Amino acid sequence: MSLVSLFRDELREQTAYHPKAGSYAVRLDANEAPPFWSEGAKRRFAEVAAEAALERYPDTRHAALKAAVGRRFGGAPEELSLGCGSDELIANLLLAVARGSGRSASSVVSLSPTFVMYRVSARIRGLHVVEVPLDAGWNVSMQSLERAIEYAHPAVVFVATPNNPTGTTVSEDTAAAIAETARESLVVFDEAYGMYAEQDLSRVRDGFANVLTMGTLSKIGLAGARVGFLRGRPELVAEIEKARQPYNLPSPSQAVARVALDERWDEIVATCAEVVRERERLALVLGAMGCTVTPSQANFLWVRTRRPASEVFEGLSARGVLVRSFHDRGGRLANQLRVTVGTKAENDAFLDALAAVEP
Ligand SMILES: *Cc1c(COP(=O)(O)O)cnc(C)c1O
Repeated sequence: MSLVSLFRDELREQTAYHPKAGSYAVRLDANEAPPFWSEGAKRRFAEVAAEAALERYPDTRHAALKAAVGRRFGGAPEELSLGCGSDELIANLLLAVARGSGRSASSVVSLSPTFVMYRVSARIRGLHVVEVPLDAGWNVSMQSLERAIEYAHPAVVFVATPNNPTGTTVSEDTAAAIAETARESLVVFDEAYGMYAEQDLSRVRDGFANVLTMGTLSKIGLAGARVGFLRGRPELVAEIEKARQPYNLPSPSQAVARVALDERWDEIVATCAEVVRERERLALVLGAMGCTVTPSQANFLWVRTRRPASEVFEGLSARGVLVRSFHDRGGRLANQLRVTVGTKAENDAFLDALAAVEP
């Protein structure tokens, strides 16, 4: 007997996640914020990280950090669950709803293309995944989504807005329609890129008991701290909290994230505004170069290149610029690249390299 047969069947369809290694002068592949923290902010982070009592377990209730998250993004402590990144919140939620096995296992509905962790996290916990293709403009097709929800009776519906990798959002009306259609499911609106978008889903969250929203500090300058937050009705959050590891957030992370939110918020806001300006400039230049750019509400652009994305990707890599290509998924993704908006210098380096690769 092979010992590997002890592992879940679903793992055979997975590969471990390894972001592209190697050294690149310009990394625009992971939707992180460009480097921006002031020297003063870095000193303060070092100070509070050093003060954290490393002999002791971290605060399992995340009291101080939850209060800081609540001040900036809203939410009372009992409406919030904090995770080691929103990846952990997705995992906790799916663990908490996973029931049955094989054909009778619970299921999840999401869109395609979207953030891969919904699928990966669901599959490794034995849930079924039904993915609904976005329409030709990379927007949600309500008709298809309704049919999928009726067919699958999902435990959870995941909608990233703005969506990764397309940068598109759902309107408030569409969000409400999804929440209404899936009223017997939990509906998660993942607002990982909310700080770059003009979007406010608070009325939908307040109006529908089944709606949860998620956010993260990863895309606004703190990817290394790993802090994500989920917000919803206290009775739902209480169940998700039971599936969480008690000491999931290291104390230095909690401390650094708290002072970033409480004391250095201005630096975050200024960076987001600058990234949005650069996003619009990049989109214009790329359009003039003959690429088709989907209007984006996030800190990246979804770009259709004239040549196959695999060739453009390799050409950019050879020039020290790393972006994300989806060509291995083929079909309508074969000419699509996702390019994170960086500093002005990084963006110019990308444009120069692209002009050389796709003249
Ligand atoms: C990057 C990303 C996340 C992951 O966030 P972490 O907090 O770093 O785990 C979640 N959702 C979407 C849509 C993302 O693009």
